[in-house]
Amino acid sequence: MIAQIHARELATGELAWRWIDHVTRGYGTDAEVTSIPDTTELWVVPVVNPDGVDIVASGGSRPLMQRKNANDTGASCPAPGYGVDLNRNSTFKWGGAGTSRCGETYQGTAAGSEPETRAVEAWFKQLFPDQRGPGDTEPAPVTTRGVMITVHSYGNLVMPPWGWTWNANPNASQLAALGGKMAASNGYTVVAEGDTTGTTDDFTHGNLGIASYTFEIGSGSGSCGGFFPQYSCVDSLFWPNNRGAFLTAAKAAKAPCAG
Ligand SMILES: [Zn+2]
Repeated sequence: MIAQIHARELATGELAWRWIDHVTRGYGTDAEVTSIPDTTELWVVPVVNPDGVDIVASGGSRPLMQRKNANDTGASCPAPGYGVDLNRNSTFKWGGAGTSRCGETYQGTAAGSEPETRAVEAWFKQLFPDQRGPGDTEPAPVTTRGVMITVHSYGNLVMPPWGWTWNANPNASQLAALGGKMAASNGYTVVAEGDTTGTTDDFTHGNLGIASYTFEIGSGSGSCGGFFPQYSCVDSLFWPNNRGAFLTAAKAAKAPCAG
């Protein structure tokens, strides 16, 4: 699990911390929780974009709406508009339609140009072998291991790859099946991304074969909506909705494409 690759998506890091707390505090007392670390490695990065989070937090009680990282090389963007979108910078199928230097989805000067991107990709490559063939239509095999969730907001969505194309992912039915099991917990809609090149989950699935998902936490409006929901919404809504989805993902990690 990775979270807060987009700095302003405040609830996402909180959910990652809740997940760590749930597993560590429940171990030895909660039978369902205990079975997971006994059999499965869990890795969580609650904040992938710490420089961006610092910018958000610099606003104090009026947090800044920084989405990207803090790379201002060659930019003269009005703050907080500078930076590279780390969820458009991954090396798998990087490129395609992008925005200008100051746009919210600026993809960077090259695939993997950002140190955060390179660190995340190197880490995944240490954890997982390359389980999928190089062809666009080659599926990850049924023996594939690993589930990756990148936590974003907002939209109440569970989104499997692809992002880089609207063509169906060769594992579409399997990814949809596990997505549906997770959505049974959080009530979100399962739908492929499309139109988002350079995302983390396109890399982890496309390059390594991991069953990968973008979660979009929360709705677009209301007191628990948007990028800055009321803090109480984490415990009243987001965590109880997603706890079961995270457990489902962890339990599926041994063989996510096996049904
Ligand atoms: Zn996001």
